[in-house]
Amino acid sequence: MKDRIYTSELSGKVGETVVLAGWVDVRRDQGKMVFFDLRDMKGIIQCIVLPMHTDAITIAKEIRPEWVLRLEGKVNKRPEKNINPNIPSGDVELEVTAIQVLNKSETPPFELNTDTMQVGEDIRMKYKYLDLRSERMQKNIRMRDKIITFFREYMHQNDFIEIETPMMTKGTPEGSREYVIPSRLSPGNFYVLPQSPQQFKQLSMVAGFEKYFQIARCMRDEDTRGDRQPEFTQLDYELSFVEQEDVISYTEAMYIAMVQTLYPEKKIQQIPFPRITYAESMEKYGNDKPDMRVNKEDPNELAFCWIVDFPMFEKDDEGGVQAVHHPFTSVKVEDAELLDTAPLQARANAYDIVLNGYELGGGSIRIHQREMQNKIFQLLGLSQEAIEARFGHMLQAFEYGAPPHGGCAQGIDRIVMLLQNEPNIREVIAFPKTGEGKDLMMGSPSEVSEKQLRELNIQIRK
Ligand code: ASP
Repeated sequence: MKDRIYTSELSGKVGETVVLAGWVDVRRDQGKMVFFDLRDMKGIIQCIVLPMHTDAITIAKEIRPEWVLRLEGKVNKRPEKNINPNIPSGDVELEVTAIQVLNKSETPPFELNTDTMQVGEDIRMKYKYLDLRSERMQKNIRMRDKIITFFREYMHQNDFIEIETPMMTKGTPEGSREYVIPSRLSPGNFYVLPQSPQQFKQLSMVAGFEKYFQIARCMRDEDTRGDRQPEFTQLDYELSFVEQEDVISYTEAMYIAMVQTLYPEKKIQQIPFPRITYAESMEKYGNDKPDMRVNKEDPNELAFCWIVDFPMFEKDDEGGVQAVHHPFTSVKVEDAELLDTAPLQARANAYDIVLNGYELGGGSIRIHQREMQNKIFQLLGLSQEAIEARFGHMLQAFEYGAPPHGGCAQGIDRIVMLLQNEPNIREVIAFPKTGEGKDLMMGSPSEVSEKQLRELNIQIRK
């Protein structure tokens, strides 16, 4: 739009004539005058329409919240007592001389100029594009972008490269059920959506990149359990020729820099972050994600800690054993012999980072030798046949000069939630799903046509 500027730019333009565009936030009539707030991506500005601007006042009497307008007007200083120091351009207002209605709006199903937290969540989800117009949601999504951008730049400054790994792939064991996609071209076969890029990032190490990262979407088909989303975002990274200490100190420095840059008002309770062994944590706190805050009421307190020395294995529900982190995790050198005698007692080179009682991320130093990897799969109860079918490619890759490597992944949604002081991750995801995995706006999941099913060789059992 020609000459259009943003509400945030008006402060320095007293006396000038400007063009603005945006949404009507609130409107108040006062006698013959009309007052309204105009909202754009940068903020809000008070607008006044005087009766002498006859065309403008006629339209102004009609406008309703959420109508989309183009305005022309003169920037005036606000009277001293009306100055709002808390918003950009809070010291000026716009005397509107012309209004063009770009689009009208139905009355929204809930008010957008207040915190929508009080509104029922189903209705907020159904009208997500309206919910997102509210100030709090705008802030959350914009801060999320800043956090992701910070991580991306930090990674690049440290010689990491971002590599995109496939979304349509084969299962990778992170302990959850997988989403499957039927293949049309290979009837009866399926792709699996990644629970994480774990295998690809390790194979990127075999490929010689040495430092990989990705802002990666992960998909896990879990039952409604607490504050989870079927798809979520990780800052995923992997490094070659590193030990546990390298990954931990790199991660810690990154978090400190991020908080200092983007949230200078927050204080990190202890640097270096305390380290607690898994055994100690279970004994002392009864869990492996202790909340170490001194004052839980203080919204600016950040209590990070590391949990280290996780066990390699734990018992699963069916009486077998499963990997606590994942099967690619290496065993502590001093515990290697326990794999043959008492595997449940063997400790892993695995670590989690915890913030204010939430697991933010975790990782491990990996196995990079075929024999050891094979042994771990066997301990997990896989037959040699199953090992070859599911993980033959990993075992083979390890035979071609796989470097020692390790890495970590950080849950972006949780990070943003905690830093923005939100009670759940749905508040910091632009288009989240319900606890039952439904997108109430798009109406997914949904049925597909008979033709699509036929092409996929799929028959629905009624
Ligand atoms: N892939 C792991 C996860 O998603 C993280 C890692 O081991 O780097 O938890």
